Amino acid sequence: MGFGSKMCDETKFSVMCSLFNWMQRSKSSAKKRSKFRKFLDNFCKPGDYFNAIRLLLPSLDRERGSYGLKESVLATCLVDAVGMSRDSQDALRLFNWRKGGAPKAGSNAGNFALVAAEVLQRRQGWASGGLNIKELNEMLDRLASSENRAEKTSVLSDLIKKTNAQEMKWIVMIILKDLKLGVSEKSIFHEFHPDAEDLFNVTCDLKLVCEKLRDRSQRHKRQDIEVGKPVRPQLAMRVGNANNAWKKLHGKEVVAECKFDGDRIQIHKNGQEIHFFSRTFLDHPEYGHSMSAIIIQSIIADRCILDGEMLVWDTSMNRFAEFGSNQEIGLNGVVISCFIAKVAKEGLDSDRQLCCILYSLGFALPYMNGLDVAFDILYFGDTSVIHQSLKERHELLRKVVKPVKGRLEVLVPNGGLNDRRPSGEPCWSLIAYSVDDIERFFKETIENRDEGIVVKDLGSKWEPSDRSGKWLKLKPDYIRAGSDLDVLIIGGYYGSGRRGGEVAQFLVGLAERSAPDTYPKRFISFCRVGTGLSDEELDAVVTKLKPYYRKNEYPKKASPSFYQVTNNSKERPDVWIESPEKSIILSITSDIRTIRSEVFAVPYSLRFPRIDRVRYDKPWHECLDVQSFVELVHSSNGT
Ligand code: ATP
Repeated sequence: MGFGSKMCDETKFSVMCSLFNWMQRSKSSAKKRSKFRKFLDNFCKPGDYFNAIRLLLPSLDRERGSYGLKESVLATCLVDAVGMSRDSQDALRLFNWRKGGAPKAGSNAGNFALVAAEVLQRRQGWASGGLNIKELNEMLDRLASSENRAEKTSVLSDLIKKTNAQEMKWIVMIILKDLKLGVSEKSIFHEFHPDAEDLFNVTCDLKLVCEKLRDRSQRHKRQDIEVGKPVRPQLAMRVGNANNAWKKLHGKEVVAECKFDGDRIQIHKNGQEIHFFSRTFLDHPEYGHSMSAIIIQSIIADRCILDGEMLVWDTSMNRFAEFGSNQEIGLNGVVISCFIAKVAKEGLDSDRQLCCILYSLGFALPYMNGLDVAFDILYFGDTSVIHQSLKERHELLRKVVKPVKGRLEVLVPNGGLNDRRPSGEPCWSLIAYSVDDIERFFKETIENRDEGIVVKDLGSKWEPSDRSGKWLKLKPDYIRAGSDLDVLIIGGYYGSGRRGGEVAQFLVGLAERSAPDTYPKRFISFCRVGTGLSDEELDAVVTKLKPYYRKNEYPKKASPSFYQVTNNSKERPDVWIESPEKSIILSITSDIRTIRSEVFAVPYSLRFPRIDRVRYDKPWHECLDVQSFVELVHSSNGT
């Protein structure tokens, strides 16, 4: 099989690297699985199963904290770890990994681990360092627990000494938590043990799975969920319209609920001990500072698990803070979660401190509060209730939770939060008796600028990690934002993976309004957009623009004077378009919501923008201007 040495006391990491290589090269899932099986049977002692599987499925490993290393920081640490000058060709190759590095583009462009291996190849020998997987895991523990860049660099330097470049390539992929083996976690679990997936789904504990299920022939009694152990959440299947939703749930009793736009949260209460688990089963103790006391007082059960969504409540407006109101924080959920976490952590007890934190984040919103909307209950007293119908669980939820306005709300039909929206109407959840009920509810939700709706079978059980259609989500399709948004490409970002080494996304701008009968002189950065075009269409745009690229490689330089941008590094493109006259107009569409932006120079940006078409027919100077766009936003917001 080619894994090298036979079963010995400790599994060498070089043997795992052979497994990774074999799996990556094999085309079919069945072959990948059989390689994995051979590895387990012949080269890995049961005592090493966890050491091996946590390297194979790094994104499921919760024993180790986060490394705090994404490609750019990892590049700096690796450069320092081997003592390269930061200006050297190899260092630039790493910093500019998406492009393949200076000076010539390599075939590894867009794959950080391959670029790293290429650079390390020149510094490491070919021979394996002989590291075993237990030692590797201990070193990765050290990497995760080291508190600063210098310590991380020193661990990486030790790793480099004990490995060759091929082994380091896989270690880099493990650190980035993506091995690109083309095999699902489901296949790995099934090959490992027939009950592995089920056990993982209800415990989210890879170590426990590896240790309890060492013997494949020994079936494991189905395990129930437990307070204190996160459960993989029940998920929703996407449907295109109300008709599809209605058809799918034909003959069932159905509830339609608002799809809240926050973070999924699972609250575990065990007496005074409260845990807040995220969708990726991470514990968020920071929520506890302001929420735990409320949970303890409001849940009439010693032991209980609630499923819900964590949001921000605006006490001044008496409503949920809109997605866009987290304006100063940025564009994505991660940052917004950080805001929610901050608010949850500091609460409103200490106004001064809270304001201080909010200001330091660019905030002046001391009236925002963390709020949990509980839409389900999974455990009550001494037993799991996930096998009960949703209707029964709603009843239980109603009895078990005493809602606290703006802090802990329950989402059940005919009571609690659903009665009236704080603004008066419409309601947050309703029993639907016809497709028209769903259609109407969906429309109201859209008008209220919510994310969409979730339609649920009231007779269904709650099943960990299930997306088979017990819950259906209905979201608005991309719509034209009032009129065409014709924007000008002002820069480009290199892609990764398949599109590595080529521009795959664009920085687009709006024109500064010019005097009548003159062409615009400046373009203001507006948003970053990459999806919507076919490969051929994208290639055509890239080919046309390529002769006019002005490189903006590390260290990034100032922008051309006719472009106005912010200092936010998230905005900085890899190439600028040399001058606006050489560029191309794109028509873009977006989710109905615009969001306030600090990343881009225009005060609003688009949420989930996508390219509708390329406007070769429009000259560059017919780009939409900022003033018209802002007027458009205000008219669509009714402000
Ligand atoms: P999306 O990006 O659309 O939220 P997703 O993949 O994160 O999708 P899905 O399972 O597809 O998650 O959609 C359900 C998600 O919607 C839940 O994880 C939860 O965070 C959120 N949600 C908001 N309101 C509700 C609700 N009333 N019932 C269930 N889930 C809700």
